[in-house]
Amino acid sequence: MRKKLIAGNWKMNGLKADAKALAADIFAKATPNMPFDMLVCPPMNVLGFVAELPHSGVFVGAQDVAETIKSNGAFTGDVSAAMVKDLGATWTLVGHSERRQYHGETNAIVKQKALNAINEGLTVVICIGETLAERETGKAVEVVRAQTRECVPNEATAENCVIAYEPVWAIGTGKVPTTADVAEIHAAVRDEIAKVLGTETADKMRILYGGSVKPENAKELLNVENVDGALIGGASLKADSFFAIAEAVK
Ligand code: PEP
Repeated sequence: MRKKLIAGNWKMNGLKADAKALAADIFAKATPNMPFDMLVCPPMNVLGFVAELPHSGVFVGAQDVAETIKSNGAFTGDVSAAMVKDLGATWTLVGHSERRQYHGETNAIVKQKALNAINEGLTVVICIGETLAERETGKAVEVVRAQTRECVPNEATAENCVIAYEPVWAIGTGKVPTTADVAEIHAAVRDEIAKVLGTETADKMRILYGGSVKPENAKELLNVENVDGALIGGASLKADSFFAIAEAVK
């Protein structure tokens, strides 16, 4: 039985005062025995600060790690997985579509980042998802299968890796795929994980849905077969809406 994961991606939101207030609200609502895992991914400027707050029942993660296998060196602006861990975070996202879109990250880069995270003992959430053009030309399944195959390192396990399916056209737009489309993609992703890592790992690995998840649609999306949680952007910036989504896990 896969425990659902409710993950919040704060993106580039969080001056110190805002991050402190949001983290305090979320951590105050969380309890150790919630029927789901919960993760928050603040931006790098406040990651250490959030990770140092008491956060029982909630994991804290980064939104990205550096591509280089080095943990330090001449890589201006980069933050290595070792540095993320040193800040007190235990998880990280990699391959978010905004990284792919604005920073030209390829599947090969995402795979290297995922491996760096795993090698450092972090749990990694690998984001994949098709663009609108790919969806409209009937290529969605093919694209996410290739992304899964090309981004998941052989070292991944159900314990150190989670996949997040986030159709690019659904992120921040208020649009969501049909539940049938979500089910089709999640089944394909699990099948592809099985090819890379074997069926036992594939059966246990969590596959999240992300893209305009709100309290109003959470129940429907979280009940789709093979949907093991949600990666939430906008609605994770308020503790009330974040927990209202989590409440849909029963
Ligand atoms: C995201 O950025 O990962 C995301 C899913 O954003 P939103 O929930 O705002 O669509």
